[in-house]
This record gives sequence, structure tokens and C-alpha cells, in this order.
Amino acid sequence: MPETRLIAADDQEMDEAIDAAVVLLAEGGIVALPTETVYGLAADAFNPEAVARVFEVKERPAFDPLIVHIASVTDLPAVAEVPDEIDQTVRQLISNFWPGPLTLLLPKTDAVSDLVTSGLPEVAVRQSGNLIFRSIGKKLGRPIAAPSANRFGRISPTSAGAVVKELDGRIPLVVDGGACSDGLESTIVRVEAGPKRPLIHILRAGPVTKDQLQKFGKVVVDKRRAIDRPETPGQLASHYAPRTPLLMFDKPEDFVPEEGKQYGLLSYKGDPKAGYVDRHDWARVECLSPGSGKLPEAAVRLFFTMRLLDEAGLDAIVAEPVSEKALGLAIMDRLRRAAAPRG
Ligand code: AMP
Ligand code: MG
Repeated sequence: MPETRLIAADDQEMDEAIDAAVVLLAEGGIVALPTETVYGLAADAFNPEAVARVFEVKERPAFDPLIVHIASVTDLPAVAEVPDEIDQTVRQLISNFWPGPLTLLLPKTDAVSDLVTSGLPEVAVRQSGNLIFRSIGKKLGRPIAAPSANRFGRISPTSAGAVVKELDGRIPLVVDGGACSDGLESTIVRVEAGPKRPLIHILRAGPVTKDQLQKFGKVVVDKRRAIDRPETPGQLASHYAPRTPLLMFDKPEDFVPEEGKQYGLLSYKGDPKAGYVDRHDWARVECLSPGSGKLPEAAVRLFFTMRLLDEAGLDAIVAEPVSEKALGLAIMDRLRRAAAPRG
């Protein structure tokens, strides 16, 4: 594979970037594209060979299915069927959260190959809020399958530079759309008819929060099940992991540094009251939301700061837990997986 080309999708080069991506996708190639969540590694969802290449480049196991992105809601019937009993709720979710970081699991149509869904009967589908991504899908005229543009199990890229670090020389093109505005992978839900209200199962916590979904049904989150017995295959215990071991503790006192080792701290806001900042002479401290402690800022900066610490030559990273309210649920989900034993 020749060098990976990077085109900035700014005012001057926007059309060039879009056209270059469409040409590559139309001929069965794969390209990295910006979305509002994380950068995606895109392929024509209706081209099984292109989809196979995504798995190959990411070194992603075939049992971990891909999300399919549609450019317009009118493209939904081409990829998914909406059962009558959940039709109303699905429509409400779509009109409230699309385009945006909400992925729906729905029965797939025959046009979606088993490769995309890893042989599962449902397809994960969303409409991205990123205009560059949607323009490319619209011009291609086909749905785009796109998982995060990182090597399997590693930290998701939230900038074009991070994609290059993950996949340089493995893909022909990265469209640089700047930093991702949400910085965390989409919320994945399955809707089910309930006895009183519809049930909305959160299978992966993300930028669309439990509180936001509650208006549309009874929201069910089972954190332990999501970690231990993944219902969506990609939700493996160890994921989003830096190369440097990441440690999390129930209480700050449980951290016992080993002699001679260099530790970095991933702090929420750098507040000593959380019990970590003054506990040790850290080789490096990075804060998710310095000073103010705002969860949206912490979410946007999570993978970026994890990457900074991973590149700092430390023996281990200690992550402070954050409150599991609102976006904190998704942040803690990613931190737990990053800290989970690998195997
Ligand atoms: P990524 O695109 O890397 O954010 O990962 C996509 C994740 O969505 C997968 O790892 C699964 O957890 C979930 N997913 C995608 N497609 C399906 C499907 N057909 N059934 C269940 N879960 C899915
Ligand atoms: Mg991923």
C-alpha cells in the first residue's frame, strides 16, 4: 500500500476531499472519514469485498459487526425493516436524534450482507451528524459501513492525526474534518415493545444519554451485563485500550505504586479532593476537563488524553473514576474496558 494521503476538508479543498473519497469508495476502496463521534473507516456497505477489507485493515475479528451509516432517512428501508410494534418509537427516536450519535439495532434487509452484521439478524444503523460524511454518502448513493478507524481493541481516533497513527500505510486516504465534536462512539439501542411503555435497551452508552432517551420509553441499562456478557459482540471487556496498562481502583487508597515505576494520572478535573492528585508523585498528569469539570468536555477529550498518556513512556496510567451521571456513564464504560484485563 502506498503512503496514506491526508486531505483537509476545509473551504479550499472540501470538494476535492469529498470527490476523492467517493471515487475510492465507488471502486471498492476504504477511506477514513470524520464523524461527530470518532473517525470511521468507511466502505460501501453493499460491497462485501470492500467490507472484508475493513476487517482486514483493522485486524478486527469477523464476529464484531459494523455500523451502517445512511445519508438520508429515506435510505432506511434499503438496509433495515422496522417492525410494526416498535414503529412509532423508532420514528420518534429518528426524528429527535438523527442526524446524530444514536445507533438503532433493527432487523436487516437481504441487501445487507452477513459480513456486515457478523451473521446476526439485526443491522446497526445511524445517520451521522457530520456534513462531510453525509455529503460523501449522498454522492456515493449507497450506505456506508464504518467502524472506528483504529486497530482492533485500541483507542478510537478523534482526529485525523490519530487515524494516521493507527493506520498509516494501510489505507489510501484520510479526510481531515478536524476534531470530532462528541469524541465518544454512538449510543447503541434496541427498542422493544413493553407491557406499558416501549423498552429502550442501551447496549452501548454514548453521547445520547439515558435521560434524553427516557422521554420515549423505559430505558434499560445493564452495565455489568454489557461488560461481562456482551450482547453486542463488539462490546468486549477489553477495548478502547492504550498500549500502556490502565488501572482503575474502587478507592484512591487501593493504589499502591510499585518501586521504580513511572505512573501517569488521568484525572477528571485535577481536583485533589478526588483523592488522587496528591497521593503520588505522578510522572505526568492529564485532566479530562481541567478546572471546571464538565462532562461534555471530558467526553470530547477522553480518547485524546488517553493517547497523550499512552505516548508518554509510562509504566501505567491510573484513571480517576467519574460520576456515572449523564455522559459520565459512557465515559466510565470506556474507562472500564480500557482497564479490563486483556486476553
Ligand atoms: P464501532 O463501529 O467500532 O464503534 O463498533 C460497532 C459496534 O456496534 C460493534 O462492536 C457492536 O458492539 C455494535 N454492533 C454493530 N452491529 C451490530 C449488530 N448487527 N448487532 C449487534 N451489535 C452490533
Ligand atoms: Mg471501535
